[in-house]
Amino acid sequence: MPLSPSETSRLLGEFNHRPKKKLGQNFLTDGNIVHKSIAMADLPAGIPVVEIGPGLGTLTKQLLIKEHPVFAVEIDENLFENLKKSLASFIQNKQLNLIKGDAVKKPLAQLPDQVKDFAVVANLPYAISSPWMESLLHSQRIPMTMVLMLQKEAVQRMGAKHGTKEYNALSIFIQAAFQNSHIHPVPRQCFFPVPGIDSVLVQMNRLPTPFHFNQKTRTLIRKIFTQRRKQIGSLLKKEDPPTKKMLEMWISEQNLSRNLRPEQISPEQWRALAEFNS
Ligand code: SAM
Repeated sequence: MPLSPSETSRLLGEFNHRPKKKLGQNFLTDGNIVHKSIAMADLPAGIPVVEIGPGLGTLTKQLLIKEHPVFAVEIDENLFENLKKSLASFIQNKQLNLIKGDAVKKPLAQLPDQVKDFAVVANLPYAISSPWMESLLHSQRIPMTMVLMLQKEAVQRMGAKHGTKEYNALSIFIQAAFQNSHIHPVPRQCFFPVPGIDSVLVQMNRLPTPFHFNQKTRTLIRKIFTQRRKQIGSLLKKEDPPTKKMLEMWISEQNLSRNLRPEQISPEQWRALAEFNS
């Protein structure tokens, strides 16, 4: 069962661990939220699950009890060593593949290449939610479903529509691969220590044909969004001649007004840019 706040505090004390703010170490202490995360994922039996930042293993243990093979990556040495002990039986029978490392570099916790259908269930450290997502999209291995605990604002940005201030380059890349289907707010008291921000659980399903933005186009879109309030007509003048020519062709093919700002251009129109820029 998930640990209560006092048990979490006692357990951390046992191995002399002070939660590290910069690693987003706010541990889940509410059983209902742990079960909700797993219920929202609604996973077929036996489907492998990737977990980012298992921490004290609260969510991990429930996934293992449900007989999912779990691939987990934890960066913190202390927590990693504790997990190795507390989940030793699952490691021994090879149901749990636990690695120590940075999830931004290993976004799928070394899930074997041959595994095509898998899920991600994670209470993400908020500082890496965007770079981890970028890294996942870059890997071109898109999970069939993800249930992520995220900062409320991050979810708003991911699902943002064009023309809003939350809409950014990552919104475009994520919406090309996933649709958000379910969002559940999570009270701050469900964590120890209690964080200073609001969290939500979000379920995202892989689109039937996820679109992959090539690296070149992602870099260009990200660069263009650093000046999201400028008009594209003036932004393209700063580009080198081949990029400028390509942007001109895209603008004309998509029938875009040169007065449009990057934030007013729809995900579909940005997708068309990738076709010119391959
Ligand atoms: N899953 C646990 C839970 O729900 O109670 C802990 C979640 S806590 C919000 C985030 C976890 O991610 C911590 O264990 C932290 O050490 C780990 N972490 C932070 N940055 C990481 C990174 N770059 N790669 C892997 N793990 C990371």
